[in-house]
Amino acid sequence: MTKAIRFSSCGGPEVLELVDVEVGAPAEGQVRLRHTAIGVNFIDTYHRSGLYPLPLPSGIGLEAAGIVEAVGPGVSELSAGDRVAYVSRPPAAYCDGRLAPAEHLVRLPDGIDDETAAAMMLKGLTAWYLLRRSYRVQAGDSVLLYAAAGGVGLIAAQWARHLGARVIGVVSTPEKAALAKAHGCADIIMADEDIAARTRELTGGEGVAAAYDSVGRDTFKASLDALRPHGVMVTFGNASGPVEPFSPLELAGRGSLYVTRPTLFDFINTRKGLLEACAELFAVVEGGQVSIEVKQRYALADAAQAHRDLEARRTTGSTILLP
Ligand code: NDP
Repeated sequence: MTKAIRFSSCGGPEVLELVDVEVGAPAEGQVRLRHTAIGVNFIDTYHRSGLYPLPLPSGIGLEAAGIVEAVGPGVSELSAGDRVAYVSRPPAAYCDGRLAPAEHLVRLPDGIDDETAAAMMLKGLTAWYLLRRSYRVQAGDSVLLYAAAGGVGLIAAQWARHLGARVIGVVSTPEKAALAKAHGCADIIMADEDIAARTRELTGGEGVAAAYDSVGRDTFKASLDALRPHGVMVTFGNASGPVEPFSPLELAGRGSLYVTRPTLFDFINTRKGLLEACAELFAVVEGGQVSIEVKQRYALADAAQAHRDLEARRTTGSTILLP
């Protein structure tokens, strides 16, 4: 038996319940894992609220680190005792232990401890595809990054600076501003300022090469207005709600802009792609160019409180649950 968080109706954090579940033996291609740390992500709140609908009842959580306890038939790359981490669907990571597909697991290098791994797999791979695939950052670019003191934000800011970009971060409090500046942001715009006007001021009127916008509804237009001609709008989250429908003419009127609405799983949907992305992420973390900041730790049983704090903008950096 293991403890797991489940929910059987969508709603606020109170729908999350701690229950006992049977784990069983690993089937073909599976391993049985004992979790050591579990990542909390904003997407978990979309699953819980129903913004991203799931069949119910459902587990929740997409990333964790742990130890392989047993391997099923046909699993040759892993054995009992291996230290691993993963990003995996369907959501089921908020638990003490589970069965998981071996093809989703990545063996951890000695230089990356379990808490760091649980804090960075989903957020770090997101930062990787944002900066290396959605809009490939060039040295000398100015880029706009929302929630710059958040989980994805702190990682992306450091990584973008390492790639030679000037990062303009958007945050909501002076404490978050200081943290974002200490982790890669050259300039800060406060969330209640005129973001487009301030971005133009900071870039000598030109605008930024890319806007990495995870806030969604409230900031979409400001992000378009902050771009240089041919700039790339990467709208990748809905912290304030989903973006409203818009006319493509909005892009023509602002200098032939590009818009993309990416999602992580499309960039790691082959084993080769996953391992290449992890190799790049592990290299910048082990090399010290990107430090992973675990700023909140909760017991697994307190997952609902973790959601409350994340949604109320009370967190910074990464949040993990401890089994
Ligand atoms: P964060 O740690 O960044 O937490 C969310 C932050 O968003 C808050 O701290 C807050 O920062 C900011 N925010 C702005 N407006 C609001 C609002 N109305 N309500 C709540 N928060 C707000 O979370 P994550 O690092 O887990 O995720 C960051 C974003 O990236 C999320 O929107 C998430 O959905 C998205 N994402 C998308 C992925 C994809 O592949 N498409 C993958 C991973 C994440 P501040 O107070 O400084 O404004």
